[in-house]
Amino acid sequence: MEDVLKKLGIESVNAGGFNGQWIDDDKGGILKSVSPIDNRVLAEVKQLSAESYERVVARAHNAFLQWRLVPAPRRGEVVRQIGLELRKYKKELGALVTLEMGKIRPEGEGEVQEMIDIADFAVGLSRQLCGKTMHSERPSHRMYDQYHPLGVVGVVTAFNFPVAVWAWNTMLALVCGDSVVWKPSSHTPLTAIACMKIADRVLKANQVPDGVLGLAVGKGSVVGNMLVADRRIPLISFTGSTAMGKKVGQAVGERLGRAILELGGNNGIVVSNHGDLSMAVRTILFGAVGTAGQRCTSTRRIIVQESVYDTVLERLVKAYQSVRIGNPMEEGTLMGPLVSRAAVEDMMRALDEVRKLNGRIVAGGEELKNMPSDLYVSPCIVEAENHWPIVQEETFAPILYAIKYKTIEDAIRLHNDVPQGLSSSIFTLNLKEAEYFLSHAGSDCGIANVNISTSGAEIGGAFGGEKETGHGRESGSDSWKQYMRQQTNTINWSDALPLAQGIHFGDE
Ligand code: NAD
Repeated sequence: MEDVLKKLGIESVNAGGFNGQWIDDDKGGILKSVSPIDNRVLAEVKQLSAESYERVVARAHNAFLQWRLVPAPRRGEVVRQIGLELRKYKKELGALVTLEMGKIRPEGEGEVQEMIDIADFAVGLSRQLCGKTMHSERPSHRMYDQYHPLGVVGVVTAFNFPVAVWAWNTMLALVCGDSVVWKPSSHTPLTAIACMKIADRVLKANQVPDGVLGLAVGKGSVVGNMLVADRRIPLISFTGSTAMGKKVGQAVGERLGRAILELGGNNGIVVSNHGDLSMAVRTILFGAVGTAGQRCTSTRRIIVQESVYDTVLERLVKAYQSVRIGNPMEEGTLMGPLVSRAAVEDMMRALDEVRKLNGRIVAGGEELKNMPSDLYVSPCIVEAENHWPIVQEETFAPILYAIKYKTIEDAIRLHNDVPQGLSSSIFTLNLKEAEYFLSHAGSDCGIANVNISTSGAEIGGAFGGEKETGHGRESGSDSWKQYMRQQTNTINWSDALPLAQGIHFGDE
């Protein structure tokens, strides 16, 4: 552990603010980063007060005014170098993700790989920030649209993807010519500090203006509130719970700012009697138990055709019994701890609700004793009904609800009958069922898959959801457009002044 912290430049007490220079603020209070693995304090961070928050955003705004003038491919070159620097620190940064939030080592390193992948994607994008040319209805006129840098982007991230979500937003924002101020989760300030140090070496070597990347570790009630209400920040990209997202959406909406809201999911897999059941079982195990059920895309519901329901459940229970739970730093561990006592209590409260409704818990659902901390649980399968209030909610823990269906129409109705709309999947080898699921009458989620998990998205696709999962898209496809302002230009190269729609005004 000491080696990892040292290599990443983490001290025992760290400044939590950065605007090109580290800001040591004694007024914002100390935040302890505690590892869920064994409740050990990894290091301390000095949070920002309102005063030093101001220093971060003011510098970010000034930096934007310069950075937007740098040609986009040149901005892409800086991002390319950040990608190279991340490759050098993949192992250590991945290990710090594991230490700080408890996901297993391969998932921690996988998260850093996502950062590298989005950096590569953004490099290519830096030469493809293209608008369209349209034909004007007026003679000798040219019309086109173009995309300009937007401004300071405020990025607020959840604990469960402490580095990837920042990178999804930041690599795109950088090539788009924006500056970024990051408020990380209070569970994971050290990974944020480590990322900033890695990226800053590249920025300094390229004489990028101070403040293009900023960090604001601080309390939600201070830094969070100020950031979302800040009129100098035209775009807030918020990742977190639906409850918090609603507040953020209101605050940003009140000032008519832009918001990307990446909120909670309630992701279902439909398992058809036409599906490959062994592939389905392996996938469900990864989807529901991976990251200890703490992914926004974790599989929370399986909707299984009644003729294969008993077989699927039986195989799943067996698979759950083989899951090795323990220290996520150790090889072979498949599931580490939950992030906090509050998360364990939420899980236990959800299971109490299930019991009140006479729901049958067929596997797991216990707090584990004699572990290195009080945050380890066994992953759980519950036979449930879709309409139960607890099934309609996202409990951020490894609880999987099993629900039966008769017809594919039933399955899709049940699948969509929740408030959230993030990720979804169907296991079937029947072409008609697969196409139905992906059609406009099928899944209502932002992500819909066939024969793969709800979790484990690639960076090339746009990532995001519908309904109470929020709106907007991050990462691939054309998500970049949200980080720029679109401008339509019409140029008259004639000697006349024709008006659109054939309108004559005065002598014209
Ligand atoms: P959370 O809502 O508790 O916190 C999210 C972020 O909001 C943190 O950085 C927190 O410090 C910050 N915050 C707190 N008070 C604030 C305030 N007043 N103003 C602004 N920000 C404030 O969520 P969490 O427990 O960290 O993460 C888990 C949740 O995130 C789950 O619901 C999960 O589904 C969701 N999530 C969604 C996605 C997605 O892409 N849809 C991805 C990851 C996580």
